[in-house]
Amino acid sequence: MISGKQATGPGAGGRPALWSDDEISALNTLWNRGKSAADIAKILGRSEDSVSVKASRLLLSRKRKTEGKLIPCICCTRQFVSEGKHNRMCDPCREGGDGDLDYVVQFGGVR
Ligand SMILES: [Zn+2]
Repeated sequence: MISGKQATGPGAGGRPALWSDDEISALNTLWNRGKSAADIAKILGRSEDSVSVKASRLLLSRKRKTEGKLIPCICCTRQFVSEGKHNRMCDPCREGGDGDLDYVVQFGGVR
């Protein structure tokens, strides 16, 4: 038999319904226009809590994506956060850091 389906679906027991893609993109647009959570809640017909929780999650995941990727430096092989494909050297190396060995040793102790 199929069980475990009670009280977890949308609309059950006062749980907020899932956000649809349309609602998420509307939330994104409104939020970027500087609307407050209360305004967006009114427009989308949701609770203010629900809107602010969803908005903060969206902002968090967006931030993580734009923060770049951790890759090894082509010069000293130390891991650093790259801003993009053009960015394959860590800051000390890009600044011509010949005397930066101490720095490399400190941060290279990961492996
Ligand atoms: Zn480097």
